[in-house]
Amino acid sequence: MSNTRHSYQRDNDTRYLSATHEVTNQPAPLENYNLYQQDIALREAVRREGAGFADQDLDRFGAWAGDARTIELGHQANASKPVFRTHDRYGHRIDEVSFHPAYHELMGVALENGLHSSPWTNPGAGAQVARAARYYMHSQVEAAHCCPVTMTFAAIPSIQKQPDLARLWAPKILANHYDSRNVPHSDKTAVTIGMAMTEKQGGSDVRANTTRAYATGHEGPGQAYELVGHKWFVSAPMCDAFLVLAQTQTGLSCFLMPRWRPDGSKNPWQIQQLKNKMGNVANASSEVELRGALAWMVGEEGRGVRTIIEMVAMTRFDCMIGSSAGMRQAVAQASHHCRHRSAFGARLSDQPLMQNVLADLIIENEAALAYTMRVARALDNQNDEHQRLLARLATPVGKYWICKRTPNHAYEAMECIGGSGVMEDSIMPRLFRESPVNAIWEGSGNVQCLDTLRAIHKEPDTLDAFFTEAAEARGTDRRFDQFLKALQHDFADLSNAQYRARNLVDRMALAMQGSLLLRFGDKHIADAFCASRLQAGGGLNYGNLPSGTNPAAIIKRATPEVG
Ligand SMILES: Cc1cc2nc3c(=O)[nH]c(=O)nc-3n(C[C@H](O)[C@H](O)[C@H](O)COP(=O)(O)OP(=O)(O)OC[C@H]3O[C@@H](n4cnc5c(N)ncnc54)[C@H](O)[C@@H]3O)c2cc1C
Repeated sequence: MSNTRHSYQRDNDTRYLSATHEVTNQPAPLENYNLYQQDIALREAVRREGAGFADQDLDRFGAWAGDARTIELGHQANASKPVFRTHDRYGHRIDEVSFHPAYHELMGVALENGLHSSPWTNPGAGAQVARAARYYMHSQVEAAHCCPVTMTFAAIPSIQKQPDLARLWAPKILANHYDSRNVPHSDKTAVTIGMAMTEKQGGSDVRANTTRAYATGHEGPGQAYELVGHKWFVSAPMCDAFLVLAQTQTGLSCFLMPRWRPDGSKNPWQIQQLKNKMGNVANASSEVELRGALAWMVGEEGRGVRTIIEMVAMTRFDCMIGSSAGMRQAVAQASHHCRHRSAFGARLSDQPLMQNVLADLIIENEAALAYTMRVARALDNQNDEHQRLLARLATPVGKYWICKRTPNHAYEAMECIGGSGVMEDSIMPRLFRESPVNAIWEGSGNVQCLDTLRAIHKEPDTLDAFFTEAAEARGTDRRFDQFLKALQHDFADLSNAQYRARNLVDRMALAMQGSLLLRFGDKHIADAFCASRLQAGGGLNYGNLPSGTNPAAIIKRATPEVG
């Protein structure tokens, strides 16, 4: 009897002891929410910049992007890096990179939704804006695969420089579906396009390229050449064709190089190895050797940079969208977390110091988005001279500024979440690892600043257009007026401009962002932007909004509601 009672008590105690704790004070994952519905700034920008017609479509896309299964695809695509095989088991050279199925699924959704095509197939008011909004949401799910989506999209203006090639290729580039098969492009109705400019001895300075092009018959635009040389960075190497820079006797020229020859044999474009990247890992980047790869000249001989720069300009625009999107996802995660997490007896999002940090991060994101969507509208209206000049200058300025503001933004958002933000099963490490990439590729920071100066030098009207646009907010805020006046004054003397270029470009970006927010933005955000970015006296880190701003209103606006 006593034995029975003893064992009964022990069982009870064990059960009691094994229940160590209840999990509390942990936010639910941010999933099953609509990325469009829950993003007030995005919806406002879409309507303001002329894409209100796309509202319903964006709403549907936003629901897909916030679905738990979609979010999981982003994690899966990054969990296993692409794998490269040089040869098959019989010894044939295959140059095949395989990706996780989730990568292909995301590519499929991107292309089915025209992220690579819609402004070209349905141009007109709001086309770039609507596409930018979709890309903004898509990139929040997974940024790495957006690289080939962007390159395919951006290739069109360059390929159109060679109408005979464009007739053959454009219909397949613009087809709204995805064919991942490793088969000749002639067997496909949809293709993707990459770019190969960078070589070991020079990335920014592509004129140092040593890859040579030898005509197989006639020389000149549209003619066939064989390319011999190497490329040091080629992303998405399973694209069906690439725009490649190579030297002819006349100089650096642009070529379209498919992975297969017309007879169905493999073009001798051999991948040497994949890059071991810190970020952008779901997507492969490679080192390649060209051993007589057949390619066709695009555009004028010796004017390869001029031809491919059309593509580069569009990829730079997408870098702005991608980095703004990274900021939005960081802000959504941080504000969601702080809303559902308490410390020292109060919700984090109600505590003054955290409010300052969160609101500051939100302001940065809204400023980036407003700027990006304004450039999208300029791209939609390239027949208007003001918009053309504006897009020319606002693209390098914005690419430089927005991409460069992102890494510290990603890190601060991660810190808002605390230790869990460092864990690989959250999206925060991925946002952080992705954050420097846009700043470096497609022309690194200094190169964007130099391009800004080049544009002003070659076409001084670009600067007039930029300042005319920014000045539309003049008279609405004293701090803005003073900031703009001082900046314009500094442009009066461009001596030593290269040395001062970062300072000038930083301030151009701030002036345009301030102008857009004052004219069209939320009034609390515009006020805090002017107080923290246009007025001297702030510190350098996020969380430096001065007293008198309204962080609670800013946070409420940006925090997604789930469930
Ligand atoms: C993940 C990834 C994927 C990539 N994919 C591709 C691809 O698909 N195709 C492709 O062609 N390339 C690709 N690149 C290459 C990329 O475009 C180059 O790395 C970039 O253009 C810089 O070139 P670089 O690495 O040779 O650096 P460099 O040109 O040596 O530049 C080094 C630094 O010097 C600065 N600099 C250069 N010139 C000046 C100057 N005159 N004054 C002041 N500063 C200057 C630059 O801003 C940079 O900060 C990729 C890069 C990365 C990281």
